[in-house]
Amino acid sequence: MEHLSVNAAQEIVLRSVQLLGVESVALEHSLGRVLAQDILANRDQPPYDVSAMDGFALRSADVAGAPAVLEIIEDIKAGDMPRKTVQAGQCARIMTGAPVPPGADTVIRVEDTQDVLADEGFPHPNPPPAGEGANVSLREKVQINVAVKINNDIRPRGEGMREGEVVLPSGTELTPGAVGMLAMVKRATVQVVRQPRVAILSTGDELEGLHDPFDANKIPDANSYALMAQVQALGMQPVLLGIARDDPDELRRYLQQGLQFDVLLVSGGTSVGVHDYVRPTLEALGVQMKFWRVEMKPGHPMAFGTTENSCVFGLPGNPVSSMVCFEQFVLPALRRMTGFARIYRRTIEARLTHEVKHKHSRTEFVRVMLGREEGGYTATSTGAQGSGILASMSKAEGLMIVPADCKGLAAGSMVTVQLLDGTAYQNEAGGEW
Ligand code: AMP
Ligand code: MG
Repeated sequence: MEHLSVNAAQEIVLRSVQLLGVESVALEHSLGRVLAQDILANRDQPPYDVSAMDGFALRSADVAGAPAVLEIIEDIKAGDMPRKTVQAGQCARIMTGAPVPPGADTVIRVEDTQDVLADEGFPHPNPPPAGEGANVSLREKVQINVAVKINNDIRPRGEGMREGEVVLPSGTELTPGAVGMLAMVKRATVQVVRQPRVAILSTGDELEGLHDPFDANKIPDANSYALMAQVQALGMQPVLLGIARDDPDELRRYLQQGLQFDVLLVSGGTSVGVHDYVRPTLEALGVQMKFWRVEMKPGHPMAFGTTENSCVFGLPGNPVSSMVCFEQFVLPALRRMTGFARIYRRTIEARLTHEVKHKHSRTEFVRVMLGREEGGYTATSTGAQGSGILASMSKAEGLMIVPADCKGLAAGSMVTVQLLDGTAYQNEAGGEW
């Protein structure tokens, strides 16, 4: 417990949290959720062989010696069913998505054809522009300018999906593409893993609420809102409980309320100061504390505990520390509870543009901006890295990891960076730290 690494603390957190239950949501609200059921195709898509182009459906053998003039026997739009069979010397005008008529074995796009005036048997002197074919009157003949192999520009039946096949397995993250797929199989509602109910509490006598009158001697409560935004960035909506004073009774009332939620985030008061009541108060409320210190910078006084139905993260009061601890512990826990397989921020390798000193034995998370250079990325510190300097976080595109045993990094070193990007996640933590 004395020297708990970030990885080890993360493991304790992830072992303690459970996958939440299932709920039904309307397709319109399914983006970003995790499927809790297998989704099967309810039809072949496309339901028959269809044309991939506006053009003509014909028999490949008829145009082997192109140019060749063919008789047009019908006009098939998407949504129509063909009524005739294409015989030798014939073709059908066909639009994208329309069924290929019987007898035809290939499609040629309109750009490779030329109108032939009815009964005259020679090319039209002023052919209508490509794409306007549907608007001109049906001509009886067409000249095919090039030979085509069979199955050209035909999308075969079932190319997109086959009836009965699992198109989205349980556990799938619902991206925009997956939502489109759900609509394709006519799912107006879907079963997804429910989202955790998250409460956020700030603690400290010195704190001034966002809507309190300005007092130059107070510290504005940034943590409630930075944490709120971090939760929202995961597609979840937290509840702000407000600010508890450093008073054991008041703190107890707030914490009790917070423990009704699936996850309680409480910032400040987790250290060892005489007014840091969070840990003893949680213990008095029956919370089983799993750890209260992690070998990291920023974020050393980081606590975690559980009850039967809830878990509580005691985050450090310093705004940057609380945000960095959220990234390392709360984010993977919330994603694990919600059913995501990829629960960690994506990591990339980048070239450090300057020296970084490292004189202690804690894993350090340096807030960096990223650049591009030939062959990869560069990482550059966002500036002064004090744990109260929120600007270091507000400018950051990533958290650069300086491993605990590192003795300092020279300019040009390759480093690992966690991307603070809304969509990029991965299965593994991405390294040892
Ligand atoms: P603590 O962990 O309670 O000792 O707080 C450490 C530092 O973080 C102190 O300087 C606090 O004023 C500051 N702090 C604590 N809570 C917040 C908060 N909600 N917003 C901004 N700063 C805070
Ligand atoms: Mg405090």
